[in-house]
Amino acid sequence: RQAQYSALRDLPCATKDGQPIDLMINAGLTIDLPHIEDTGSSGIGLFRTELQFMVGQSLPRSSDQLALYRAVLDAAGSKPVTFRTLDIGGDKALPYMETVVEENPALGWRAIRLGLDRPGLLRSQIRALLRAAAGRYLRVMFPMISEVAEFDAAKSIIERELTYLRQHGHTLPERVDVGTMLEVPALLYQLDELFKRADFVSVGSNDLFQFLFAVDRGNSKVSERFDTLSAPILRALRDIVRKARAAKRSLSLCGEMASQPLAALALIAIGYRSLSVSALAHGPVKAMILGLDLAKAEAMIGPLLDAPAGSVSIRDKLIEFAEAH
Ligand code: PEP
Ligand code: MG
Repeated sequence: RQAQYSALRDLPCATKDGQPIDLMINAGLTIDLPHIEDTGSSGIGLFRTELQFMVGQSLPRSSDQLALYRAVLDAAGSKPVTFRTLDIGGDKALPYMETVVEENPALGWRAIRLGLDRPGLLRSQIRALLRAAAGRYLRVMFPMISEVAEFDAAKSIIERELTYLRQHGHTLPERVDVGTMLEVPALLYQLDELFKRADFVSVGSNDLFQFLFAVDRGNSKVSERFDTLSAPILRALRDIVRKARAAKRSLSLCGEMASQPLAALALIAIGYRSLSVSALAHGPVKAMILGLDLAKAEAMIGPLLDAPAGSVSIRDKLIEFAEAH
């Protein structure tokens, strides 16, 4: 199977009827870097910077952060890398940091909330990213943004750091795009404002679904209770595509959903043109894309999403479609 997938490595990633799809990989540590090349992916759609913080015994020094980010950009070459700022707290605790006892850690003091309340940590990370990208293209993405004001506050930290580095004679990145994860349902109702501000948006379906369905993603008793290929989810995801298109903003999805070929088929059929998947899933998802007749898939899925929710199993229909094609 792996040999079969590596044969696809150098083929342009496009559907059978010619729609190019940007297929990227998720990464977080230096051991992931060879996968950029060996999958033939078009870049790193989600670099989870917290992993460096989680594997160590103490807070990584800024020189260690700088070295990692440089290595990542070196390995990626001309392919884009989207660095997500620290997404710690919740289920991602740092053993050496103050622990806060919370009744609902997933809803608690985590990710950008912690970053904005303890800006020293976020600032030094952003400085390391900006320095690593000297003379190059940088993409920075914030986790768990729930209102546009938070995005503005986080983005202003980047602007301050750019000013600081400029004043101190450092070479700045050639360009910096600033985007956000879309993981909190409240953002679904601020999409117009969000797309005006953010250079790009990436849907974090793992957290978005956890919050949409009020289902703990880490609790196996409940995590399988809802169907990712059901009307409420696919309608929400389609609304995001429509808004992004209207605003002419780039949109991607980097949650685990995209790593399942059947779900990736549904995502492309509802309008996603950029997906970021686990390195292992890159081959199977690319194989699906190369064989996909997008016009047929679009014609199939539209009516299913518009049918009354629950009246038809979208998953079953997708499986039928995938088997027939
Ligand atoms: C997500 O929530 O979908 C996501 C990609 O982020 P993480 O899985 O790291 O929370
Ligand atoms: Mg998340």
